[in-house]
Amino acid sequence: MRIIEHADLSRSNTLGLPGRVRILARVDSEDDLRAVLTSVSARNLPLNVLGGGSNIVLAGDVPGLMVQMAIPGIRVLSDDGREVIVEAGAGENWHAFTQRTLAMGLGGLENLSLIPGTVGAAPVQNIGAYGVELKDVMHSLTAFDRVAGRFVEFAAADCAFAYRDSLFKSGQPGRHVISRVRFRLSRQPLLHMDYGDIRQALSARHVQRPTAADVSRAVIAIRQSKLPDPAQLGNAGSFFKNPVVPTAEAEALKARHPGLVAYAQPAGAHPEGSKLAAGWLIEQAGWKGLQRGPVGVHDRQALVLVHRGGGTGAELLRLAADIRASVLATFGVVLEQEPVILGQ
Ligand SMILES: Cc1cc2nc3c(=O)[nH]c(=O)nc-3n(C[C@H](O)[C@H](O)[C@H](O)COP(=O)(O)OP(=O)(O)OC[C@H]3O[C@@H](n4cnc5c(N)ncnc54)[C@H](O)[C@@H]3O)c2cc1C
Repeated sequence: MRIIEHADLSRSNTLGLPGRVRILARVDSEDDLRAVLTSVSARNLPLNVLGGGSNIVLAGDVPGLMVQMAIPGIRVLSDDGREVIVEAGAGENWHAFTQRTLAMGLGGLENLSLIPGTVGAAPVQNIGAYGVELKDVMHSLTAFDRVAGRFVEFAAADCAFAYRDSLFKSGQPGRHVISRVRFRLSRQPLLHMDYGDIRQALSARHVQRPTAADVSRAVIAIRQSKLPDPAQLGNAGSFFKNPVVPTAEAEALKARHPGLVAYAQPAGAHPEGSKLAAGWLIEQAGWKGLQRGPVGVHDRQALVLVHRGGGTGAELLRLAADIRASVLATFGVVLEQEPVILGQ
């Protein structure tokens, strides 16, 4: 474990926003995690958990202690010839893990390729992309329960997974720190290729009989063409969730705005209704490409807010609040922010 006092976090968040934390503890084992979390409780210190910093907005300095998850390790727990259960430590890089499982001949994570961040954070907002969500492939996880003071196990069904949400994000935020996650992967995966431009990307590459690795390559190419790379331009991916509204409301909106992009939620999805494309709403409200000093709205993807350097979390959050107010005034639709705000 490594402890740094008054640690600079500006390189530890993909938006590149400035901020410091009083104590940063980089934790690379479950024993260290238990020790740190037990001492935080005893001293009544505020606690925050950090993975790769790709889904947070640093609003300023962060008090107390921040645990940065660095627990490593990838191992196969069972293999019946078809289904394989693979476990990864919370500190493993998510994208590298997807590529490692594909190289092992296992499908399941291909549509979730190139999402930044760590394995441990992936269940927190039930990461999703190209028609697949983490809940579809997660088997179970281990987390330290700060209330019970011990490690506990969760089956996927116990995590209250919903669209970009889980028990760990909005149910009981801060109670559990995830240390290991297990995935149910397959040697004969059912490929999901009907979402976005995956089929077009495969045929552009002349792939006739795609494998999971081919789908991953297609997803990577599409993402690279659409989303800014945080190493080049500070961002946290989608800044707002796509709002889910009652289907009658979506139809009324579509009658007034024929270009509205809306999809019926699949049967059994939570929440029910129609999902509206937040990027379309923001673009139509006139925000796409807008720059306000060091912060702005990306010029190709209106759902992505960007920080070009030299700005603050407060400036970014003011821009987000103005966008939310403008979309509400134009369409009567409430946008919910996706990244978590840390600091004050
Ligand atoms: C360019 C870009 C594209 C993106 N695309 C997508 C996408 O397609 N789909 C998608 O769903 N997301 C996407 N994201 C968002 C982000 O990558 C994911 O939410 C990712 O899972 C965050 O991982 P992280 O390790 O960076 O978490 P962080 O940003 O460090 O933390 C996020 C939250 O999780 C908590 N947390 C982190 N680790 C743990 C742990 N071990 N235990 C408990 N709590 C923890 C933190 O306290 C915080 O509340 C994108 C982000 C970027 C920058």
